[in-house]
Amino acid sequence: MFNPKAIYYEKEILNYELGKELMDKYKEVAKIEIENHNNIEEMRKKSNKEFANMKRNLIIGVRKTHKFVENHKTSDYLVPYTSSGCTAACMYCYLVCNYNKCAYLRLFVNREKMLDKIIKTSEKSDKELTFEIGSNSDLILENTITNNLVWTIENFKNTNKGKLTFPTKFDMVDPILPLDHQGKVIIRVSVNPEEIINKVEFGTSRLKGRIEAINKLKEAGYKIGILIAPVILLENWKELYHKLIKRLSEELTEKVKKDVFFEIIFMTYSFVHTKINEEAFPNAISLYDKEMMTGREKGKYGYKSELRSEAEIYLREQMNKYFPNNIIEYIV
Ligand code: SF4
Repeated sequence: MFNPKAIYYEKEILNYELGKELMDKYKEVAKIEIENHNNIEEMRKKSNKEFANMKRNLIIGVRKTHKFVENHKTSDYLVPYTSSGCTAACMYCYLVCNYNKCAYLRLFVNREKMLDKIIKTSEKSDKELTFEIGSNSDLILENTITNNLVWTIENFKNTNKGKLTFPTKFDMVDPILPLDHQGKVIIRVSVNPEEIINKVEFGTSRLKGRIEAINKLKEAGYKIGILIAPVILLENWKELYHKLIKRLSEELTEKVKKDVFFEIIFMTYSFVHTKINEEAFPNAISLYDKEMMTGREKGKYGYKSELRSEAEIYLREQMNKYFPNNIIEYIV
């Protein structure tokens, strides 16, 4: 259970039901009024050392931008939704990259407007659209604070068309199990070898919990995807990913294995990550390896192409061995 250290809020949230609810839920917590959730000067000035501490705060505001971005992977649009950032601290999180010190959890209380836009866009379209609502945060985690995922599924189920999807690294799925989702929600659980989760994905659910969550969600009728992501090539990467894929094949139920699909994404890292992680987590392992990685655009690093190809071939072999009948949507 996340207990915020302080709440930074825009006054306007008090005009919304959810805003009032959250202020009441956290009535004992210190409150600081802010002008704009995008620009909290006090936070911007903090040093990288304070990164994990900053994540103990909760920012509550009203989302002003509602622009959908076209996407061509597992969804048609990336949609800004009810939260941004996260209380966890995965060392490679791309939200860190985009927002630097603003990777803390921000909640947006104008959920009616956001869902309404999704429903209208979906109904106007000739084709069945899928909306990615979790590209900026983790909605299973957010749901433990706002109940927004339950609210979303309940309010989306009666639409004529369209699907929602989101990825997660958390296992607190029980509140959404009993919902009548009408098969309109695709949940993609992200996994990594246990050693990587323990050393790199601070504050997320452990592998065992994530596998159990997948089995429960499938039993509850949700369509399931598994993201093996991000693939991190530590020294013993072959052994780690072999063990992971084998374990998935042993612990996932037959029902899941029947039609689960996979996405595999290699890690990209950046100069910003290196700076923050060195100062915020001085005892953690280093994810940047100059022998293995090469620079890409905008200060980002990726694995060198030879190594990347070798790893892709290896992962495809393992997937063929343990999940011969399942689709790998893409490896990037
Ligand atoms: S759980 Fe997702 S959003 Fe949260 S820190 Fe990790 S990668 Fe970022």
